[in-house]
Formats: sequence, structure tokens, C-alpha cells
Amino acid sequence: MPIGDYELHKEIGKGAFSVVFLVTEKKTKKQWAMKIIDKKSSSKAALETEIEIMKKVDHPNIVKMHEYFESTDKIYLIVELVTGGPLFDRIVDKKSFTEKEAKLITQQLLQSLVYLHSIGIVHRDLKPENLLLKTPTDLTVALSDFGLSKIVGDDVFMKTTCGTPSYVAPEVLNNISNSPTAYSDAVDMWGVGVITYILLCGFPPFYSEDIRKLFESILSASYDFPNDYWSNVSKEAKHFINCLLTVEPTKRYTAKQALQHPWIVENNQTEPLPH
Ligand code: ADP
Ligand code: MG
Repeated sequence: MPIGDYELHKEIGKGAFSVVFLVTEKKTKKQWAMKIIDKKSSSKAALETEIEIMKKVDHPNIVKMHEYFESTDKIYLIVELVTGGPLFDRIVDKKSFTEKEAKLITQQLLQSLVYLHSIGIVHRDLKPENLLLKTPTDLTVALSDFGLSKIVGDDVFMKTTCGTPSYVAPEVLNNISNSPTAYSDAVDMWGVGVITYILLCGFPPFYSEDIRKLFESILSASYDFPNDYWSNVSKEAKHFINCLLTVEPTKRYTAKQALQHPWIVENNQTEPLPH
């Protein structure tokens, strides 16, 4: 089925806000991913401004936007096709990553955030599902979904993210009204802390069936490193996570600071030196 200049092949993914198809651009025969999003209330001007910003974003660890068009009730985003699937699936397959692998992934995520934050963009929805792997064979990550909060509208976005709040920063839970810190860069850094934690052990730092308890543990950053899963993880890695899972947003590490943390910078040799 053709849509505009594109031939649709098959569905390759579903997210919180969209359905994603593999498509070929008729003219160039190039393959892309097409994200189809239900149009919500956001005004046409606001949408266009946001998409223009997304089109300018250009970083090796961020899914590149190619073009967009719309119909009366849908928005079509044509984006760079990545083939490694969501990082989340790899975590499920592998249980957890080695420290070296986790570090490599975290470093790329931090680089993409230093870039986004430097041009005034907050992702707001960092979670393993929104980190895609560029190819099935290596660990190059591509951040997806930034800017979507603006496109789908704040109401829908808050409902979706706060519906499963395991990744949400305390100030976002606290806010819901109008705190200026709720959408600051620091929100993303909390997400980096949660993702790094999951990469290293395979389960999230904050988890409870009881939503009130979950909220409470996030609001007080009550998490630990259970010995059964964490005894072999370096203290630098734990310290790194501590610096990000800090309740007070102004004390939380920025992306720049995190990139300079010893866990990221130092090539932690764990093997003993030869005699
Ligand atoms: P949503 O914004 O609706 O949450 P996502 O961007 O998270 O959508 O994408 C949902 C799923 O679609 C992803 O988990 C992935 O499997 C697939 N997908 C998204 N973008 C791409 C892409 N650029 N290339 C390949 N697959 C993609
Ligand atoms: Mg998503």
C-alpha cells in the first residue's frame, strides 16, 4: 500500500504513541521507518515548530528524522531505519549486560543527551524501550522518541508516562502542576540512572505492584543493590548510579558531569595484573 512517496511493507514495531512500518521511498528505493501517530489536539503551528526542531537534530546516537507529512487525523514521520531492535529486548534475552557493555551503552546515551540538552531539548521519556540498537550485531544505540511529548500533547504524554512510572523522576511525580524543574534536563538524567541500573542487573531500581509504594520509593530514592545481583559490580558503577538517582534535581549529575565520572572515563581493568 503506498502512502505519499512511500511503499509500505510491514509493521516493525508498536510504541506508546505510534505504529511503525518498514517503507521504501519510491524515488530512491531507500528503506526508512515510518512512524504513524494519531493526531491529537496540538495546534498545527506548534506541531510544525516541533517537527522542524526534530529535523535539525543530527547526532550518531539519535534516530534521524527525514521528513514528515500529515492527513486529517494522522501524522507520518519518516525516520532513519535501525535494525537492531529495542535495547529492552536485548536485556530480556541477555538478563543483564557486562559492566563493559553497560558502560558502552551508557556513554553513547550520555553523548546524545549532552547534545540534546545543549540545544535546549529535553527528551522526557528515557527508558530502554526508547533506546534502539542500530544493528543486530553491535551495541551502537540510537535514541528514539524525543520531542514526542510535544507532538502528542502534554495530557496524553503524562498519562502514558505516569501510568507506568518506574522511570519517572521524583520532581515529575511531585509536580503534575507547574514546577519549573519538572521538565528540566535533570529529568532525563534520572532516566539514565534507571537505565544504567537495569543494564547492570536486569531489573528496575524502583518496583512495586502497589502504585503508592512505588511513588514513595521514587520520591525518596529508596533503592538498593541486592547482593545476589550486584556483588560483582564495581563500586564506581554504583556511585555513578547514586549520582543520577538523586532526588534533588539541582544536585543530580548533568550529562556533562556524568560523562566525566570515573566509571565512564576510566578503563577499569578488573583482571589482576601479571606478576
Ligand atoms: P512510540 O513513540 O510510539 O513509543 P517508538 O519510537 O518507541 O514509538 O517505536 C516503537 C517500536 O517501533 C520500537 O520499539 C521499535 O521496535 C520500532 N521502531 C521505532 N523506530 C524505529 C526505527 N527508526 N527503525 C526501526 N524500528 C523502529
Ligand atoms: Mg516509545
